[in-house]
Amino acid sequence: MRPWHIPVFLHVIYVIITSNLVSTKFVMFLFGVYLNTTCMKIAVVGIGVAGAYLMNRLSNVSGNYVVGFERMPESKHDAVCAWATCQTVMSNMTKKCGLNFETYVMHEGKHMHVDFDKERDYGNDKSIDIRLKGMVIYDKLKLIQDMIRGTRIEFGKVPKKENLESDFDLIIDATGFHRNYLPKLKGEMWIPCIQYKVKYESGKIPYDDFYLKAFPSMNGYFWFFPLGNGYAHIGAGDFERRQSNMFVEFFLNKYKCEVLKKVGRPVRISPPAYCEPFTDGKKSIGVGESIGTVYALLGEGIIPATWCAELLVRHINDLQGYRNAVMKKFRIYTSVYRFIQLKILGKFSILKHWPELIKIYKHMKDEEDRYGMEIKLMNMFKVAKT
Ligand SMILES: Cc1cc2nc3c(=O)[nH]c(=O)nc-3n(C[C@H](O)[C@H](O)[C@H](O)COP(=O)(O)OP(=O)(O)OC[C@H]3O[C@@H](n4cnc5c(N)ncnc54)[C@H](O)[C@@H]3O)c2cc1C
Repeated sequence: MRPWHIPVFLHVIYVIITSNLVSTKFVMFLFGVYLNTTCMKIAVVGIGVAGAYLMNRLSNVSGNYVVGFERMPESKHDAVCAWATCQTVMSNMTKKCGLNFETYVMHEGKHMHVDFDKERDYGNDKSIDIRLKGMVIYDKLKLIQDMIRGTRIEFGKVPKKENLESDFDLIIDATGFHRNYLPKLKGEMWIPCIQYKVKYESGKIPYDDFYLKAFPSMNGYFWFFPLGNGYAHIGAGDFERRQSNMFVEFFLNKYKCEVLKKVGRPVRISPPAYCEPFTDGKKSIGVGESIGTVYALLGEGIIPATWCAELLVRHINDLQGYRNAVMKKFRIYTSVYRFIQLKILGKFSILKHWPELIKIYKHMKDEEDRYGMEIKLMNMFKVAKT
């Protein structure tokens, strides 16, 4: 209910009652029906990318009663992630929240250098250079903080499901990997990751742009993403946990820096089609990484989680419609996931699976601006051969 509805309603009720046209009881019944259909009490649990977006959009637009819950205390609220995304897409999404994405950009990428396994030889070409078209590093935490400004959030709280069920009409599970309020998934796939925030002395930064090193069989990769002013995120994800720690240690030893922070968190790569149910059949509904919106080839979850949150805003009164919209929007994620799964399990064969590879190539080529990088077929084949 919008604030201006209240005096208008009270006035209408007063006129109807004093005119004796209908009974007071009947008017109060109609008023109750109106309140039930327009006011929804919504709990948003988890204030990451999706949760912050929903807090902003649902609090500002619908006029519902919305409360957010975040397990971390406000002073320790963090956005564990390498903070890379595509500027064009995020500019549009951020505009819907009344914010200007450009002001959060910390580094504008020009090239991404990707090294492959040194023991393998692709005609002496052991690396590729990808031209970037809008890929940036942005201050993810600051954007989250600005999105939730003025909304009601209880920090340092992991609310019990039964309490939420008695107090709210809808419980949005935006807890990312944790998926605390939804049924457990069977046979899902996730990649354990570690990440350091580091600072290099002036002139000692090893790379001035995006750098990746792919691990064998596409089990994961190491990343170096510059944050500007000598700061960087370096980290790695590796399905088998063998390469990541070793390579990060090697890199930290080779290029001396000050370690400011170390974090660890898995990233879910099972796509939405493998993360059903999105709901517990009662009041809880999932959004973002809790229902698998991560593009498995890149480990990219910021844009997909934001898109997913927007789909929920649009279908807040039609959860079946939301489920269908998510399935449609993220259909290609299933093909990408199957490709990664085949690679990790050592079952991928270019001869047999080239149609799947071409399908992914075509999708990304058509949407270069969305992925923020130039897509070449030859590079795709090189990636598939790792
Ligand atoms: C190391 C790492 C690096 C990454 N780098 C990138 C990148 O560069 N670019 C990119 O696009 N994607 C990246 N991703 C993926 C991306 O970060 C996630 O997919 C995306 O943030 C998911 O958004 P979300 O809102 O669904 O969940 P999250 O952003 O994970 O937010 C979940 C929130 O819920 C809170 N929470 C959890 N459980 C509870 C609970 N029970 N009660 C209350 N609060 C709870 C958490 O504290 C957190 O704040 C990376 C992931 C990892 C692990």
